[in-house]
Amino acid sequence: MTTDFHVVGSGLAGTLMALYLAQNGYQTDLYERRQDMRKIELPAGRSINLALSARGLFALEEVGLKDRVLQRALPMRGRMMHSQASALTYQAYGQPHEYINSISRSYLNEVLLAAAEAAGVNIHFEHRCLGYDFKQGEALMESPQGKYALKDAPVIGADGAGSALRHALTQRVRVNYHQEYLPHGYKEITIPAGADGQFQMEPEALHIWPRENFMLIALPNPDKTFTCTLFLAFEGAVSFEALQEEQAITDFFDTYFPDVPPLAPDYLQEFLHNPTGVLSTLRCDPWYVKDQLLLIGDASHAIVPFFGQGMNAAFEDCTLLNQALKTHGTDDLEATFKAFYTDRKPNAEAIADMALDNFIEMRNTVADPEFLLHKKVALALEKRYPEQFASRYHMVSFQRVPYAQAQQQGYLQKELLSKLCQGIHSAEEVNWELAETLLNTLPRAAS
Ligand code: FAD
Repeated sequence: MTTDFHVVGSGLAGTLMALYLAQNGYQTDLYERRQDMRKIELPAGRSINLALSARGLFALEEVGLKDRVLQRALPMRGRMMHSQASALTYQAYGQPHEYINSISRSYLNEVLLAAAEAAGVNIHFEHRCLGYDFKQGEALMESPQGKYALKDAPVIGADGAGSALRHALTQRVRVNYHQEYLPHGYKEITIPAGADGQFQMEPEALHIWPRENFMLIALPNPDKTFTCTLFLAFEGAVSFEALQEEQAITDFFDTYFPDVPPLAPDYLQEFLHNPTGVLSTLRCDPWYVKDQLLLIGDASHAIVPFFGQGMNAAFEDCTLLNQALKTHGTDDLEATFKAFYTDRKPNAEAIADMALDNFIEMRNTVADPEFLLHKKVALALEKRYPEQFASRYHMVSFQRVPYAQAQQQGYLQKELLSKLCQGIHSAEEVNWELAETLLNTLPRAAS
């Protein structure tokens, strides 16, 4: 059978896209440089668990996997902030029925691989993409059997933030490309289950230890452990560079996260041996070439992880590309790719910026009383005027409002909340008459 689409990268986006394509009757081949993850022990490195929210869930529902995935997910209903004095403050993400989900990256990827295979996708493991020859219209590949080329069908590049296909694309003229590294890196450590086999902290929350220029977060896992991620500058007085010796590391945790060492007995060894990851924002323009190549997911727009949206945005790419293929068809694939790109690009830019903003919010302002009051008033507005008000967080995480619209609404809401919170100290003191007047001036976002 001839191939309709080649998809490169069997991570989260590539496997979901291959599944969408197969379900719509396209003969699809999927290529992955690694071995089949279902058969090997995965090295530590990339985040172990991810926050899955509305956009990701919508895509999973479309391909029939939502219920299966949610069976292994843990609800996170709010943020639990840990102060330096180990005091806890809880802040709900939304109304009681609204939450985001902690899900294992490997489990999710394995479920997608099995479903793609069952839908008829041919998966080729240990096939690495080396680049793309635009003159010949073929992707250059290497497998244990040697080098070969993928031709006669369009290539969808889902080969992640280090994409070989994007590298080839950015060598062309009139392709803009920018990669901005965050001065912070990340490292994971584990809080195991307690002696009673239960969670050692509140399981239905995303835990945050905000410390202004750095922070630690923790997400729950089904085995009652938490995966903690430390986001810290690479260089400077308080940095990974300064934390080389055992004493410096234990002093750092005892000073800034005193409640963690008693919960995580192996933290020192994990800190010394686990890798330190880099984080960056990638902006590429355009991310398609004719009807030959289209990039999706991190390959086209990797973002920093502070809004918990990288995978969700990558899944939304798949939903929207699937829709574009249904609307525009494959007769003029260049026009279909262009339509997808033109619609998606401003939204990818918006979530990239909002993710960077959220780093400051999470590490710094979540401990600020004025910020906490704004959040409480925003929740009160959502509850009282559900038709008229949805906070930016709500639009991004619980709805599918295009990211650029959520960003614009967010700017207007900031002004509104500043006016409403002026001179008050609790959400109970809000002047609801003023709230209604101000709400009537806000444009509605389409969900
Ligand atoms: P990837 O998942 O990176 O998959 C790329 C695939 O391509 C891999 O299988 C790789 O082996 C393969 N590949 C690479 N190069 C080649 C090649 N040359 N040839 C063939 N195959 C190749 N997102 C969220 O939504 N929520 C979160 O809570 C969240 N937390 C995160 C925390 C951290 C610390 C980090 C780093 C990221 C987080 N993300 C989160 C982002 C999320 O991990 C990514 O956005 C998501 O994995 C993107 O999926 P992808 O398929 O585009 O890329």
